[in-house]
Amino acid sequence: MEPIIEIKNLTHIYSPNTPFEQKALDNINLTIYQGEYLGIIGRTGSGKSTLIQHLNGLIQPTAGQVLFEGQDIWSSKDLTHNIRFQVGLVFQYPEYQLFEETVYKDISFGPRNMKLDEQEVDRRVRRAAEFAGISDEILQRSPFELSGGQKRRVAIAGVIAMEPKVLILDEPTAGLDPAGSASILANIEAYRQANQATIIIVSHSMEDVARLTDRMAVVSHGTLPYVGTPKEVFSHGEALESLGLGVPTMNRVFSRIRSMGVDIDPAVYTVEQAKAAFLSAYRRKEGL
Ligand code: ADP
Ligand code: MG
Repeated sequence: MEPIIEIKNLTHIYSPNTPFEQKALDNINLTIYQGEYLGIIGRTGSGKSTLIQHLNGLIQPTAGQVLFEGQDIWSSKDLTHNIRFQVGLVFQYPEYQLFEETVYKDISFGPRNMKLDEQEVDRRVRRAAEFAGISDEILQRSPFELSGGQKRRVAIAGVIAMEPKVLILDEPTAGLDPAGSASILANIEAYRQANQATIIIVSHSMEDVARLTDRMAVVSHGTLPYVGTPKEVFSHGEALESLGLGVPTMNRVFSRIRSMGVDIDPAVYTVEQAKAAFLSAYRRKEGL
């Protein structure tokens, strides 16, 4: 697999040399591959938002580098300027950042900044609206008349309209009901498949992240103690719990059974996996 983003020895200190100095990232290394779906999890304040803001050049490293397709994104003004079109970032609660008088204008803001011609801007706005589940009749409405969930879709469409190679979403389902969350996650999956895009999703829901992603990175106190497939990460279930993460129920139950001395695979996080792990332990015990 080809790397698309390489994070090398990245440290971020807010307000350095002041009484408010805060080290938010501490010498992080991580390679993100072309086309992968990466989940980022961690408690509030662990450094997740700081980390993803580095990936599209929104903030500058105190030390270390972020490479996009092999080039340091801070090595030239052009690269730093263009990175935000290639790596699209949807902030947490992006609906508060809508500002244009129509939904259409809001979604077209990004592609317009890319200096594309009118026809291409129009094509992208309509395609992005479709991916984000926004119907044509909504395009001419004011974003301020929409429901919270619809506004969130408009904000996501605005980033998708730039057709970024990497799409990063910070808690895209925060505050939505289960049906709304599922629908937004399905929209993201549709974009990923249609564009072979790399997706990075920050979520407090380990269940969602485990179900959706190829790999997970756990952020804790500005470091990445665990990075791997969901199965690999959940083999450290007890450690994750002690970091204050709400691990999936099945993982918690199986970690507990394992620590009671039962020979069972603790790297489970769905009911289906739990059933398989239980049956295999049972067969082993019975010599079947
Ligand atoms: P998360 O997204 O995981 O909740 P953040 O990256 O927002 O974590 O924050 C990591 C740490 O950096 C926290 O201690 C937070 O208080 C601090 N921090 C975040 N943004 C700023 C800022 N703009 N100025 C100073 N400190 C900040
Ligand atoms: Mg955050």
